Amino acid sequence: AEHEGGEPSTAIQVCVRVRPLNPRERDEGLRACVSFDEETKQVVLSAVDKNTLLQLRGATAKGYAFDRRYGQDVTSDAIYEDCVAQLVEAVFKGYNATVLAYGQTGSGKTHTMAGGQGLYGIVEEGVTPRVIRHIFALAEAIRKKEKPGEKTQIMAYGLELYNEDLRDLALAGGRDDTAKGWDGKGGNPSALKLQERPVGKDARVVPEVVGVTEKEVHNADDLLSFFNMCMDNRSVSSTKLNDRSSRSHAIFTITVQRTIVEVLNELGADLKAKVRTSEFTSKLHLVDLAGSERVKRSGVTGKELKEATHINSGLLALGNVIVALAGDDGTGTGKAGPGEKKKSTHVPYRDSKLTRLLQDSLGGNSLTVLISCISPAESDFEETNNTLKYANRACKI
Ligand code: ADP
Ligand code: MG
Repeated sequence: AEHEGGEPSTAIQVCVRVRPLNPRERDEGLRACVSFDEETKQVVLSAVDKNTLLQLRGATAKGYAFDRRYGQDVTSDAIYEDCVAQLVEAVFKGYNATVLAYGQTGSGKTHTMAGGQGLYGIVEEGVTPRVIRHIFALAEAIRKKEKPGEKTQIMAYGLELYNEDLRDLALAGGRDDTAKGWDGKGGNPSALKLQERPVGKDARVVPEVVGVTEKEVHNADDLLSFFNMCMDNRSVSSTKLNDRSSRSHAIFTITVQRTIVEVLNELGADLKAKVRTSEFTSKLHLVDLAGSERVKRSGVTGKELKEATHINSGLLALGNVIVALAGDDGTGTGKAGPGEKKKSTHVPYRDSKLTRLLQDSLGGNSLTVLISCISPAESDFEETNNTLKYANRACKI
């Protein structure tokens, strides 16, 4: 993607959103263990319960500093205006961008990205429907000023990534798990292939999902129904295969393709004005990540039955990519401290399909917002702490 106008200030923005206690947590008399310290800009975790304190081996309070902290009263609308709207504007200037919702299952990722009926019955629109309206408002304003030969096209596709299998969320058949032998271990014949294509003079690698249904859309309503259909397909499949939806990533990608005609203000031999036509394509990925909770897996061999806890491999790889980008100035040459030689940072995009898929939309010339969703309940202390740690690593950039 080419650039027009000024450079954005930071490539990765991290924010924390805490949801309200849910009715079950309230009924159980659980207390909130999350608070904000406005002076230090910290999200503070403090356990009030003795048992929780014991589990934490003596820790009484942990604080993590974040520039953007959203409490339970903050609406998705405010988060949109604060963190996401600028990404949509950047996409029209040629930048790629990614919005990621991270957090344990039940922390508010889908509520933030798609929206829905909130805990106390207040229906709230998520980030994606707002993105969709904003995209078309900008596209329509641009179209009004277009010269002959210029055009602005909007396309979208929806994917589900479960372990290392990619599925097309636009296809109803794609959700027929049993017939297609979907096992989430790469054994699914209907799984889509991810291809990396070198593009342009500098041979930038552009990831492409071969055969995914990319739909061209002409207005906000069309795009919104396409998004809703993709999300419905995701939830239908999750009831068949128990907790798959909590362990899969949902990726909704909107592509803006523009053809621009520049009039060079010079008459050619045929007395026609000279023009130069250029094209650019930028992508905005809206990602509802898999639940970040550690998944318990039992080993298979008899006596040596081991219970290990794993974080989803895509999330692990994403965290490592973000940290590697932190030490990078986007040119691939790394940042050098005083007296240090510039060294190149290896960004481990290749470690998972999630990071391969997003490789041209994270770091470098692209903008990323990580929305870390957390539960306030003291029973979730440990997972909330893990989420804040993960997000904080991304924040130290
Ligand atoms: P996740 O996608 O992370 O598993 P959900 O988005 O499904 O979690 O949220 C779990 C429940 O909490 C849902 O019923 C959702 O409506 C509600 N919820 C989440 N965040 C909020 C919020 N900020 N305000 C009100 N309700 C919320
Ligand atoms: Mg969800």
